[in-house]
Amino acid sequence: MPGRQTPVTSPPAPASDPAPDVLVVGAGLAGLPVAWELVRRGATVRIVDRATPGQATSRVAAGMLAPVTEAEPDDPDHLLLGTAAVERWPAFAAGLEDASGIAVPLHRRGTLALARDRDEAEALDRFARVCTGFGVAVERLLPSAARRLEPALAPTLRGALSVPGDAAVDPRRVVEALVAALGAAGVATTVGDVARVTLDGGDAIGSGSRATGVGLADGTELRAGEVVLATGAWGLEGLPAAARVPVRPVKGQLLVLRDPSGPGLVERVLRFGTGYVVPRDDGRYVLGATTEEQGFDTQVTAWALHDLLRDGAELVPGLLDLAVEETLAGLRPTTPDGLPAIGAAPGVGGLWWATGHHRNGVLLASLTGALLADALTGADTTVGTDATVRADALTGADAPRDDLATLVDPARFTRTTNEHDDGDPPWLSW
Ligand SMILES: Cc1cc2nc3c(=O)[nH]c(=O)nc-3n(C[C@H](O)[C@H](O)[C@H](O)COP(=O)(O)OP(=O)(O)OC[C@H]3O[C@@H](n4cnc5c(N)ncnc54)[C@H](O)[C@@H]3O)c2cc1C
Repeated sequence: MPGRQTPVTSPPAPASDPAPDVLVVGAGLAGLPVAWELVRRGATVRIVDRATPGQATSRVAAGMLAPVTEAEPDDPDHLLLGTAAVERWPAFAAGLEDASGIAVPLHRRGTLALARDRDEAEALDRFARVCTGFGVAVERLLPSAARRLEPALAPTLRGALSVPGDAAVDPRRVVEALVAALGAAGVATTVGDVARVTLDGGDAIGSGSRATGVGLADGTELRAGEVVLATGAWGLEGLPAAARVPVRPVKGQLLVLRDPSGPGLVERVLRFGTGYVVPRDDGRYVLGATTEEQGFDTQVTAWALHDLLRDGAELVPGLLDLAVEETLAGLRPTTPDGLPAIGAAPGVGGLWWATGHHRNGVLLASLTGALLADALTGADTTVGTDATVRADALTGADAPRDDLATLVDPARFTRTTNEHDDGDPPWLSW
């Protein structure tokens, strides 16, 4: 691929601009790491977003890097993907710090998963057994031991599970560092609303077409060698059916609280039921989050804030003394199997997806870019190989587990469709 481009200021791309190797649509925590990994491999890249980078769902995220407490006990694929991602985070953050000059501190005090009653305590036992079987270090704690670690916990606590490998990061800091690193590498960002992908042979859609760029809603055409769609929950209309990824918005609401006297109320990430408290290092605490099927609605509702505060305060009563700094709602980009789609769009050459990161877009930022850049440049990927081999050894799998690139391959939705039905995929009506 050609060398790095010279610095270019933002909007809009003049007609005389040479077409970059790759155009990345969407500047969230999916698109920015893709652009960053491609630049590191020597590609010329342009980013296009209709808004300021990182201001959509990625701005709302709590920032947990939590492969263990995010995984369902019967879902080793999520655990495998998340474990591989969290292992890559220290090097990913260090590389960004070097390139941007912006500190990206990792909060590495682990997670305490909390039980409020006997059912939840038994669920923690079951979960501990799954983690141990998968080689993930966890420790079951009595309430007294948990309260020695976190004295702000309520005396009604029934038990806890310590997950020392989970971490957290401030997602807005990650976006800031990625934007600065990309700017320093001369990557331009165009402000524009992408209306369609342009294909060779005009807009004739059929097998064998190839993406040549994108068309903006204002009529501007941007050409590129390859196009990556990292458009979060919004997807993109008008693509050939086989090339589409079935992504839908799953709403999440949360609060950011601030302790005016500084940090220290709780040190670790706390998880309970569907809720969590994520401490930042400056006295802020993220209290989240709801999970709602409400389409593209991003209204913050009184009932959500009520429920979050009620559940949080049951375990950490001191939360009610804090100041409310922000209330936020965002749209998790979610596929039917909850795993992301990172790789080639089937049936259209030069078109790639990086979407569907659901509850884990911050966690997976450390491998999204590397996986897609390896696929796009035709490199044999080694991303996550260690984690896959280790998982096979620990679980005694008869056959080698799918590699990460196969797990997240966008073509899995097309394959499923073709296996069961000759007509439109069921998710097209979502
Ligand atoms: C309440 C909540 C808490 C969360 N907490 C965590 C957490 O603790 N840990 C974790 O790992 N994940 C968390 N997540 C999930 C995480 O936020 C997402 O997975 C991630 O932000 C998705 O990133 P993205 O880049 O795909 O989407 P976005 O950040 O939404 O970016 C998509 C970008 O595409 C642009 N775009 C879309 N369509 C077009 C178009 N047609 N033309 C031009 N631009 C376009 C948008 O403007 C936007 O900038 C949370 C999510 C929510 C809602």
